[in-house]
Order: sequence, then structure tokens, then C-alpha cells
Amino acid sequence: MRSRTFFCDEADHHPRMTQEGLTAPGDLTLRFWGVRGSICASGPNFVEFGGHTPCVEIRCGERLFVIDAGTGLNALGAHHGADLPQRIDLLFSHLHLDHVTGLAFLKPAVLDKNREIHTYCGNLDGQSAEEPLNRLFSPPLFPITLDALPARFVHHGFRAGETLTFPDGMEVDTLPLQHPQGATGYRFRHAGRTACYISDIEHSEPWPERNLLHFVEGADLILYDGMFTEGEYPSCRGWGHSTWEKGVELCRAAKVGRLGIIHLYPQHGDAMLRDMEQAMQAAMPTAFICRERQKIVLPAEVRVPELA
Ligand SMILES: [Zn+2]
Ligand SMILES: [Zn+2]
Repeated sequence: MRSRTFFCDEADHHPRMTQEGLTAPGDLTLRFWGVRGSICASGPNFVEFGGHTPCVEIRCGERLFVIDAGTGLNALGAHHGADLPQRIDLLFSHLHLDHVTGLAFLKPAVLDKNREIHTYCGNLDGQSAEEPLNRLFSPPLFPITLDALPARFVHHGFRAGETLTFPDGMEVDTLPLQHPQGATGYRFRHAGRTACYISDIEHSEPWPERNLLHFVEGADLILYDGMFTEGEYPSCRGWGHSTWEKGVELCRAAKVGRLGIIHLYPQHGDAMLRDMEQAMQAAMPTAFICRERQKIVLPAEVRVPELA
């Protein structure tokens, strides 16, 4: 395990995070805009953990990556407004509806003709998301096509397992995950810190699977699919999801510093998730269940040169 780990969660509990823009240039920062799996949740039992489907903001210093375009993408867009970069790199775990339906609602960015939205999809044998997204976002399922929006969409395909290299030299590692039609796991490394996004995934037998173990080994944080309880799992086998217990096993085996459970079941309410979190923390004190809008900062371990 790395020698020093320091984390801060809810923005209000740490002075460095009380305002936007106070993070140091080198930090690796994650923010959750949607943590629900399958479909949105809403109502008095879903206030603390939130109801939007998956969308995670990752910042390597100031450099933005967005994972998944669930309904949480709309909240991300509304929060940042015009402050998003001209080029937005959006990495899909895969294209099931809970991970794509927010795409046309990344407002105001999609309404800006100077904006480019680059999507990356790794589970279609090298094909990009263009054709499936055009099928979804077209009449009669959706009133317009994506190319009718002022922003320009550019769709990139790759094979999960490849390392993505972006025009600015940033690199992101990827891994194929066990899920119906496949999914892609991501690993972000920045300033000596490592964070991984491992959802949607069904655990294997035996567990953890060797390639995954190697991929997340020594990471400071992994976000992991904790859709089901161990009691629910047997009747949902083959649906492509996992449990927090399997997340803890993975972290122990791979010496991962911290575990964030994501892709929450839409009928797991706040009280149940709090109990679940307590049980999980008895097994792994640094584990937590992701809450919508929560921010996690992994402070730089090595100095990052200022950009010119
Ligand atoms: Zn999903
Ligand atoms: Zn899925």
C-alpha cells in the first residue's frame, strides 16, 4: 500500500474544498454527479445518496474527464455552465441506457457551437458509439439527432485493454469487464495517485480475477459496482453486477487504499444504504458508498510542473 493516503469527502467538511477552484493543480479529484444504476430514483428515501444515473467527473489537476453520460451529466453541465473546457472527453463504461441518456442534456455545452464532445467507447470491438447513439437519439425516440445540436460530437472507438492517449499527452488505461455486451474499466494516474472506475461488472469465480487484480493493484481509490446485497445477488446472477463484499475482497487482495461503492440499486433507500455502509466500514474502515455531488480529493504525491 502507498505510504501516505489522505482523503477528504464531503466538500463542507474540509476547508480546502469549501469553494470551487481551491484544489491544488496536481490533485486527482473525483466528483459524483450520478451514482444510481439502471434507472433514476426519486423521493424522500433518496435524498442523501441521490437519484441520477452514472456520471463521474475526474480531474487530473484541472484536466477534465467525464465517465458516463447518465442523467447526472445534466447536473454536471448545470454546475459548471460555461466553465467546461472547449473539448470535453467523455469515456463510456458501455452504452446501456442508464449510461447514455444524459448525453443530449449536457447543457449548456451541447448548445455551444464552439464546443467539441469527444466520446470514447471500448466494448464494441473497436467501433465507436456513433451508430448506437444515433439510433437512440433520433425520432421517434428523441425529437432530434445529436448532429442537430450546435456542439460537435466526435466518436472514438477502441478495444478495452488498450491505453488511451489524448492529444494533450494524457493517458488513461482501460480494461474489459464482465458485463452483458461488455463494459470498460478505467484507471487514471496523476501526480503519483491512482483512481479506478470498475462498473458495471459481475464478479467471477474465483475472485478476484487476475487481470482486474493487476489493473487496480495499489490504487488509492476504486469505484466499484455494489448494485446488489449478497441476499439479492443469487436471483440477479448474470445481470452483470456485483456486491460491496466483492469490492472489499478486491481491495484487500490488491492493497487498494479506499473503496467507493457506486451503481446503487434504484430501490435501496437512504436508511438501507447507511446501514450497508456501516457494515462495510466494519470490514474496511476506509470504504464508503458514493453520494451524489460528493467530491473526493487525492492530493498530489509528486510535484506536477505548472502548465505554461
Ligand atoms: Zn449500468
Ligand atoms: Zn449495463
